[in-house]
Amino acid sequence: MFLADYHIHTSFSIDGEAPMEDMLLSAINKGLKEVAFTDHVDFDAKYYPQPDYDSYIPVFNTLKEKYKSKINVVFGVEVGLENTWADKINDFTSRYPFDFIIGSSHAVLTKDLYFDQKEYFDKKAKKEAYSTYFRELYKNIHSCHDFNVYGHMDFVSRYGMYDDNSLEYKDYADIIDQCLKAIINKGKGIEINTSGFRYGINNAYPSMDILKRYKQLGGEIITVGSDSHRTADVADHIEYAYDMMKEAGFKYVSVFRKQKAEFVNIDK
Ligand SMILES: [Zn+2]
Ligand SMILES: [Zn+2]
Repeated sequence: MFLADYHIHTSFSIDGEAPMEDMLLSAINKGLKEVAFTDHVDFDAKYYPQPDYDSYIPVFNTLKEKYKSKINVVFGVEVGLENTWADKINDFTSRYPFDFIIGSSHAVLTKDLYFDQKEYFDKKAKKEAYSTYFRELYKNIHSCHDFNVYGHMDFVSRYGMYDDNSLEYKDYADIIDQCLKAIINKGKGIEINTSGFRYGINNAYPSMDILKRYKQLGGEIITVGSDSHRTADVADHIEYAYDMMKEAGFKYVSVFRKQKAEFVNIDK
């Protein structure tokens, strides 16, 4: 079976724990055919130093060449999308020859969901906090041009400060549908992010309901990623995500070359 992990962080990310080569060796040991390194680039200068691409790119190229007979390695990035910073984001993504870009909502209305968790969620009912997240995500789709898949689309539920943080598609169906339609119309895709299995929700981001809705609306482009920050988590629940895709009616997972999707049969 063709197994690819399209969301991996290395120690070039602020929260990555292992060097790129260790993550790559873990992927090879687990039988993956392809990986995308997607280190973080976020634009909230208070919290996130930018990776130094002058040192990143030579390391990446050396490893890609060294292990090319065993695994294909894709030059990716996970960019935090926030429409307030769209000009900076669009400038950054046009400057480097990425093969693959995940766009993710890490900050909403300039509040980082992790670092500014209290500020964002305090005094907001769950419905308002989650609806605002999706409304801003919708704006990001239109203002940030260079992403290929939207990362962990319903991730806001990870940071909620409620007795019950769960997020049901049916409670946000209108705005989630608008987001999915915009993603499809712009020729972009979504990812299935398996980190939820490590963060205690026992599910992927997005949930099965959203995945099925994406299919109903005509979505085709999907990547699967572990969002691993350490070697043990590389490839985590990738086969489970393929099973989710099959259940939702998808036959192909996407890989990317120069930001163009190619489709690989998940049954092969
Ligand atoms: Zn992320
Ligand atoms: Zn990530």
